[in-house]
Amino acid sequence: MDRDMTISLTGDDLKNLIGTLSALMSEHADELTALDSAIGDGDHGHNMKRGFEALVSDADAISTKPLGEALKAAGMKLVMTVGGASGPLFGTMLMTLGKEVGEAPDRAAFNTAFRKAVDSVAARGKSEKGQKTMLDVLYPIADALDGGADGSRIIEVANTAADATVPVVATRGRASFLGERSAGHMDPGSRSVALLTAAISDFMEKRR
Ligand code: ADP
Ligand code: MG
Repeated sequence: MDRDMTISLTGDDLKNLIGTLSALMSEHADELTALDSAIGDGDHGHNMKRGFEALVSDADAISTKPLGEALKAAGMKLVMTVGGASGPLFGTMLMTLGKEVGEAPDRAAFNTAFRKAVDSVAARGKSEKGQKTMLDVLYPIADALDGGADGSRIIEVANTAADATVPVVATRGRASFLGERSAGHMDPGSRSVALLTAAISDFMEKRR
């Protein structure tokens, strides 16, 4: 992505992106659920699959809206359908992003909005980076965006950050109930963020 490029998505882009992300979450549902079975209650993959399927059902309505409104609508839908801790957290993230991003943000405006969206997850989850949650990937992505990273670098940062959750002892979320036994497994929400980030980055690069 060029530094000063405006991020504008057509209705068709939004619809394609929703379809792509839904297919991705279906494809990885069992993997994400297995990660969550190790340190949580084994519903994460199926929660995410259900949420993105609901977005596909609403894709016609969502994709006619300007970017900010579309993100807000998608966030509300995720809150209503994903369930678990991750539904309200991903939903809050998209709703904040939608509120902050406007219709066609330039890269700097997008980066500012993205960080506010990540901060809103931390506020909602009463959590911070380092506790073996999705924030462990979201903050490094925000930092990479601020540092001007391109799509492939952002994907690398997200995957590395998700891998780095493996040895961490969880201190927030369901995995924290396991204490020391939560170490040695990747955080499922972090894996979801890395997967979604890779797909969104690829999508944005392809439509340049
Ligand atoms: P639940 O934990 O309610 O079963 P999910 O399994 O769908 O919900 O999602 C679990 C993921 O949510 C975790 O892997 C973690 O990344 C994220 N998560 C859980 N609690 C928090 C929190 N307080 N702050 C940020 N992320 C969290
Ligand atoms: Mg779970």
